[in-house]
Amino acid sequence: MAIGEIGLDFHYDLSPREAQREVFRRQIALARELRLPIIVHTREAEAETLGILEEERARDVGGVIHCFSGTLDLARRAVELGFFVSFSGIVAFARAAELRAVARWVPRTAYSSRRMPRISPPAPPWAEKRAGLRRPGCRGGGGRARHERVELGRVTSENFARCFHLGAVAAQV
Ligand SMILES: [Zn+2]
Repeated sequence: MAIGEIGLDFHYDLSPREAQREVFRRQIALARELRLPIIVHTREAEAETLGILEEERARDVGGVIHCFSGTLDLARRAVELGFFVSFSGIVAFARAAELRAVARWVPRTAYSSRRMPRISPPAPPWAEKRAGLRRPGCRGGGGRARHERVELGRVTSENFARCFHLGAVAAQV
Protein backbone atom coordinates (compact mmCIF):
# COMPACT_ATOMS: atom_id res chain seq x y z
CA MET A 1 0.00 0.00 0.00
CA ALA A 2 2.78 2.46 0.95
CA ILE A 3 6.28 2.69 2.40
CA GLY A 4 6.60 4.57 5.66
CA GLU A 5 7.27 6.14 7.88
CA ILE A 6 10.56 7.07 6.33
CA GLY A 7 12.50 10.31 6.61
CA LEU A 8 14.84 12.32 8.77
CA ASP A 9 14.69 13.07 12.48
CA PHE A 10 17.33 15.50 13.64
CA HIS A 11 15.54 16.03 16.95
CA TYR A 12 16.13 12.57 18.41
CA ASP A 13 19.05 11.68 16.12
CA LEU A 14 18.54 7.99 16.88
CA SER A 15 20.92 7.19 14.00
CA PRO A 16 23.82 9.26 12.68
CA ARG A 17 22.52 11.88 10.24
CA GLU A 18 24.59 10.58 7.37
CA ALA A 19 23.02 7.12 7.84
CA GLN A 20 19.55 8.67 7.99
CA ARG A 21 20.12 10.49 4.69
CA GLU A 22 21.51 7.41 2.95
CA VAL A 23 18.71 5.08 4.14
CA PHE A 24 16.05 7.66 3.25
CA ARG A 25 17.40 7.90 -0.31
CA ARG A 26 17.41 4.13 -0.67
CA GLN A 27 13.87 3.84 0.66
CA ILE A 28 12.66 6.40 -1.88
CA ALA A 29 14.41 4.44 -4.63
CA LEU A 30 12.68 1.27 -3.44
CA ALA A 31 9.29 3.03 -3.42
CA ARG A 32 9.92 4.20 -6.99
CA GLU A 33 10.81 0.67 -8.02
CA LEU A 34 7.67 -0.76 -6.39
CA ARG A 35 5.54 2.24 -7.43
CA LEU A 36 4.32 2.80 -3.90
CA PRO A 37 3.55 6.16 -2.26
CA ILE A 38 5.63 7.11 0.77
CA ILE A 39 4.74 8.39 4.22
CA VAL A 40 7.42 10.88 5.22
CA HIS A 41 8.48 11.74 8.75
CA THR A 42 10.53 14.88 9.27
CA ARG A 43 11.49 16.60 12.48
CA GLU A 44 13.84 19.56 12.66
CA ALA A 45 15.02 18.48 9.22
CA GLU A 46 12.26 19.82 6.97
CA ALA A 47 14.43 21.67 4.44
CA GLU A 48 16.78 18.75 3.97
CA THR A 49 13.90 16.27 3.74
CA LEU A 50 12.32 18.30 0.95
CA GLY A 51 15.69 18.58 -0.79
CA ILE A 52 16.14 14.80 -0.81
CA LEU A 53 12.55 14.23 -1.99
CA GLU A 54 13.24 16.59 -4.90
CA GLU A 55 16.63 15.07 -5.76
CA GLU A 56 15.38 11.49 -5.58
CA ARG A 57 12.36 12.32 -7.75
CA ALA A 58 9.83 11.28 -5.13
CA ARG A 59 7.27 13.14 -7.24
CA ASP A 60 6.92 9.93 -9.28
CA VAL A 61 5.33 8.09 -6.34
CA GLY A 62 3.97 10.92 -4.19
CA GLY A 63 2.69 10.40 -0.67
CA VAL A 64 2.17 12.39 2.48
CA ILE A 65 4.37 14.50 4.72
CA HIS A 66 2.87 13.48 8.03
CA CYS A 67 2.55 15.65 11.15
CA PHE A 68 3.92 18.62 9.23
CA SER A 69 5.42 21.36 11.38
CA GLY A 70 7.56 23.30 8.89
CA THR A 71 7.24 26.72 7.29
CA LEU A 72 4.93 27.93 4.54
CA ASP A 73 7.78 27.83 2.03
CA LEU A 74 8.42 24.16 2.78
CA ALA A 75 4.72 23.31 2.60
CA ARG A 76 4.65 24.97 -0.81
CA ARG A 77 7.58 22.85 -2.00
CA ALA A 78 5.85 19.69 -0.72
CA VAL A 79 2.62 20.54 -2.55
CA GLU A 80 4.59 21.37 -5.71
CA LEU A 81 6.10 17.90 -5.48
CA GLY A 82 2.56 16.50 -5.48
CA PHE A 83 2.61 15.53 -1.81
CA PHE A 84 -0.22 15.69 0.68
CA VAL A 85 0.49 17.63 3.86
CA SER A 86 -0.83 16.24 7.11
CA PHE A 87 -1.37 18.19 10.32
CA SER A 88 -1.58 16.76 13.80
CA GLY A 89 -3.04 18.24 16.98
CA ILE A 90 0.07 20.44 17.33
CA VAL A 91 -1.68 22.86 15.00
CA ALA A 92 -4.19 23.65 17.76
CA PHE A 93 -1.52 24.63 20.31
CA ALA A 94 -1.59 28.27 21.38
CA ARG A 95 1.96 28.91 20.19
CA ALA A 96 1.36 27.35 16.76
CA ALA A 97 -0.03 30.46 15.00
CA GLU A 98 2.49 30.15 12.15
CA LEU A 99 1.60 26.51 11.60
CA ARG A 100 -2.11 27.42 11.52
CA ALA A 101 -1.32 29.89 8.75
CA VAL A 102 0.39 27.07 6.85
CA ALA A 103 -2.63 24.79 7.38
CA ARG A 104 -4.92 27.50 6.00
CA TRP A 105 -2.73 27.90 2.92
CA VAL A 106 -2.56 24.22 1.96
CA PRO A 107 -5.01 23.61 -0.91
CA ARG A 108 -7.92 21.30 -0.20
CA THR A 109 -6.61 18.76 -2.71
CA ALA A 110 -3.43 18.36 -0.64
CA TYR A 111 -4.90 18.62 2.85
CA SER A 112 -4.64 15.73 5.25
CA SER A 113 -5.03 15.45 9.00
CA ARG A 114 -4.21 13.04 11.71
CA ARG A 115 -7.06 12.53 14.09
CA MET A 116 -6.24 13.49 17.66
CA PRO A 117 -8.64 13.16 20.57
CA ARG A 118 -10.51 16.39 21.24
CA ILE A 119 -8.12 18.42 19.09
CA SER A 120 -8.85 19.14 15.48
CA PRO A 121 -7.04 21.32 12.98
CA PRO A 122 -8.53 24.74 12.21
CA ALA A 123 -10.80 24.69 9.21
CA PRO A 124 -9.02 25.79 6.04
CA PRO A 125 -10.52 28.73 4.10
CA TRP A 126 -12.28 26.58 1.53
CA ALA A 127 -14.13 24.81 4.35
CA GLU A 128 -14.98 28.16 5.94
CA LYS A 129 -16.21 29.48 2.62
CA ARG A 130 -18.45 26.49 2.07
CA ALA A 131 -19.82 26.78 5.58
CA GLY A 132 -20.39 30.50 4.92
CA LEU A 133 -22.77 29.67 2.10
CA ARG A 134 -25.06 28.00 4.58
CA ARG A 135 -24.60 30.47 7.37
CA PRO A 136 -27.73 32.56 6.70
CA GLY A 137 -29.66 29.60 8.10
CA CYS A 138 -30.75 29.72 11.71
CA ARG A 139 -28.45 27.05 13.07
CA GLY A 140 -25.90 29.50 14.47
CA GLY A 141 -22.24 28.86 15.24
CA GLY A 142 -22.68 25.28 16.34
CA GLY A 143 -24.17 24.31 13.00
CA ARG A 144 -21.41 26.02 11.11
CA ALA A 145 -18.67 24.37 13.14
CA ARG A 146 -20.32 21.00 12.65
CA HIS A 147 -20.61 21.57 8.93
CA GLU A 148 -16.90 22.49 8.74
CA ARG A 149 -15.98 19.33 10.59
CA VAL A 150 -18.06 17.18 8.25
CA GLU A 151 -16.58 18.91 5.21
CA LEU A 152 -13.04 18.50 6.54
CA GLY A 153 -13.70 14.81 7.20
CA ARG A 154 -15.06 14.31 3.70
CA VAL A 155 -12.13 16.07 2.01
CA THR A 156 -9.45 14.30 4.06
CA SER A 157 -11.11 10.92 3.37
CA GLU A 158 -11.10 11.65 -0.34
CA ASN A 159 -7.47 12.74 -0.21
CA PHE A 160 -6.52 9.62 1.76
CA ALA A 161 -8.04 7.45 -0.94
CA ARG A 162 -6.26 9.39 -3.70
CA CYS A 163 -2.93 9.37 -1.88
CA PHE A 164 -2.94 5.59 -1.43
CA HIS A 165 -4.64 4.80 -4.74
CA LEU A 166 -7.72 3.29 -3.10
CA GLY A 167 -10.16 3.64 -5.96
CA ALA A 168 -12.90 1.57 -4.35
CA VAL A 169 -12.77 3.56 -1.12
CA ALA A 170 -12.76 6.83 -3.09
CA ALA A 171 -16.03 5.80 -4.70
CA GLN A 172 -17.64 5.26 -1.28
CA VAL A 173 -16.73 8.58 0.34
ZN1 LIG B 1 6.56 10.39 12.36
